[in-house]
Amino acid sequence: MKTIVVKVGSSTVADDSLRLRRRLLAGLVADIAELVHGGRRVVLVSSGAIACGQHVLGVSERPHQVPALQAASAVGQGRLFAHYERLFGDHELTAAQVLLTSEDFARRDSYVNARNTLRRLLTWGVVPVVNENDTTATDEIRFGDNDVLAAQVAIMLRADFLVLLTDQDGLYTRDPRKHGGAELVRRVTDPAQLAALDVGDASRRGAGGMRGKTAAALMAAAANVRTIIANGSRPGTLTAAVAGEDVGTQILAHATSASAFKLWLRYAKPVRGTLEVDAGATRALAQGGSSLLPVGVKAVHGSFAAGDAVTIVDPAGDEIARGISTMSARDLRRVRGMRSDELRALNPQLEDEVVHRDRLVLVGEEAG
Ligand code: GLU
Repeated sequence: MKTIVVKVGSSTVADDSLRLRRRLLAGLVADIAELVHGGRRVVLVSSGAIACGQHVLGVSERPHQVPALQAASAVGQGRLFAHYERLFGDHELTAAQVLLTSEDFARRDSYVNARNTLRRLLTWGVVPVVNENDTTATDEIRFGDNDVLAAQVAIMLRADFLVLLTDQDGLYTRDPRKHGGAELVRRVTDPAQLAALDVGDASRRGAGGMRGKTAAALMAAAANVRTIIANGSRPGTLTAAVAGEDVGTQILAHATSASAFKLWLRYAKPVRGTLEVDAGATRALAQGGSSLLPVGVKAVHGSFAAGDAVTIVDPAGDEIARGISTMSARDLRRVRGMRSDELRALNPQLEDEVVHRDRLVLVGEEAG
């Protein structure tokens, strides 16, 4: 049974005067209902809580400060979900509100719980309506743009499609708002193409813009989820995209045999620090599938606790792996460069490994 994650941004959900685009949303929900009644599993990721809250409160300018954004979102989210609930009800479907933060993806137990909840809702034929839990998300860890949140939900569920609906027809060779000659990119087969596009900055109302979409598509492609970026204001776009018609920009996926744990570590767990390792450790990690030992660590950057994710870079500064550190940055700074016998003499409680091989993902491994 196919699973589809569809995301709509604030500019699609609300118009310039911050009113919900009722006709467009009704059309979108009708498309989703058709897919669900046809046996597909669909998750809707919708932004627009802040815009909706601004409208209720009569605040026309998007607030700059996080508490004001959070408060506007708290006002708007209830309205937004109530609207979707009514629309799905018209198609005899039940909607469920699911609010997530990046912390929920960072902690393994929350991640597994969220995945189980979503899976159960989909088994029941319910449509989860997901947004970021803006109330508790703090500035530095906000998804901000829900494109990355949607990609992470798609990866979590090993979805077949991630459909990002926006107010443009897809990705362009250059920012079409600035360059008349910009051309629509129909198909991306190599993710490197994405990084090369000049996609412009954040959109006016939401926080994402095309930059967030290319990041989301990169993640999804590496986790074997096909992404389609298309215009959400054209009726029937979602149905056409899922039917394989040539709409918007299609970003092809790679098959992956990586475990859900490795995908989570590579794409969902926020990195809190960097470990520079020597040439010997680089070789041992890349070739031998070894754990990272203190003796191979040359420098420690950042402030992290045991259990946080770190990125591991080779002597040239290139990322070679990500893993979960068994030690805090403070402990690791004291023991870096030490052999295991020296380590045990210093403190027998410390782990031999800084990052155990089972809790490490090599860059590129998830694509294999
Ligand atoms: N969670 C936000 C919302 O629903 C995402 C979009 C934004 O930051 O504007 O409004």
